[in-house]
Amino acid sequence: MSRPILARIDPQAFRHNYLLSKNLAGKAQALAVVKANAYGHGLLRCAEAVRDVADGFALLELAEAMSLRGAGFTQPIVLLEGFFAHDDLQLAAAHSITSAIHCEEQLRMLELTELEHPLDVFVKLNTGMNRLGFVPEQLATVLNRLRASGKVGQIGVMTHFACADGTGIDAQLARFEAAALPTGLACSVANSAALLRYPHAHHQWVRPGIMLYGGSPMPDLQSAEQIGLRPVMTFASRVIGVQSLQAGEAVGYSATFTADRSMRVGTVACGYADGYPRHAPTGTPILVNGQRTRTLGRVSMDMLACDLTDIDADVGSSVTLWGEGMPADEVATAAGTVSYELFCALAQRVPVVEC
Ligand SMILES: *Cc1c(COP(=O)(O)O)cnc(C)c1O
Repeated sequence: MSRPILARIDPQAFRHNYLLSKNLAGKAQALAVVKANAYGHGLLRCAEAVRDVADGFALLELAEAMSLRGAGFTQPIVLLEGFFAHDDLQLAAAHSITSAIHCEEQLRMLELTELEHPLDVFVKLNTGMNRLGFVPEQLATVLNRLRASGKVGQIGVMTHFACADGTGIDAQLARFEAAALPTGLACSVANSAALLRYPHAHHQWVRPGIMLYGGSPMPDLQSAEQIGLRPVMTFASRVIGVQSLQAGEAVGYSATFTADRSMRVGTVACGYADGYPRHAPTGTPILVNGQRTRTLGRVSMDMLACDLTDIDADVGSSVTLWGEGMPADEVATAAGTVSYELFCALAQRVPVVEC
């Protein structure tokens, strides 16, 4: 018998969420963002679920882009950070992988590298996030140099918003559009939050990520369920021990939780080495035997504790850490993080099954 922990991944839910994002995107095409092994869900598993409907994919690693090509995906595949070396660039071009170009160094590398095939590119503009990209005033020069190089095929223009989930995109969108619209090139600006909140910012290519995995990009404004999204990952385990505590007794490392009455405490086979956030405090919601309860005390490496006092549960009871019946966004909020981080942190040692 192995430890009773696993992650169930539902590819049909991923497909449902992708089709919903496409539907919301209207005339725009949707690049499914599958970076970080599809936010921890498995790149090929997710891509396969949308093989016949996906307009394209976006990710970071050339090796992952090539694995999609190797698996027969013919859609555009965009490297969101572009290439890092001459041979990456040659491979990307040879496999028709589209690359972001965000800095002078990449532009020069392109000018200096022999290519047998033209490279499709998205010129990335920094409109206020101050992470990657040329300032919008450089766009015309960059386009002139790309065209003069004779090495590029299709050209698009992109940017990324800092506050699409919060205070808004107006200033960034205005800077972007002032530079990009006159070029007449295909534009791509919207992540999940902008796709949901700002239809006027859809342009030609939207880039949904978190919503495809059933996470809300703005859980404080709208839950995933309200948006119509389905959870793709269910992180599940079981109760493997039960303790009876008297008032005054404590639970776990550093004894951060002390019972103020007699309690039943369940020990769950899941800890931070499985990807559960160590910072989740006492009170983080958890589903045990189908009933909502709370975690207690410190999360340890392989186990965590939960309150069974007022629920019907015992050794062997099923536990949902997040997923079906327990929104990852709620767990993330309680732990002071975002569902993105929970999904990406799922540990290698957790067995994954498809359902
Ligand atoms: C990750 C990423 C996205 C997707 O963002 P979500 O918030 O997950 O929808 C879109 N564009 C870029 C450039 C990204 O890095």
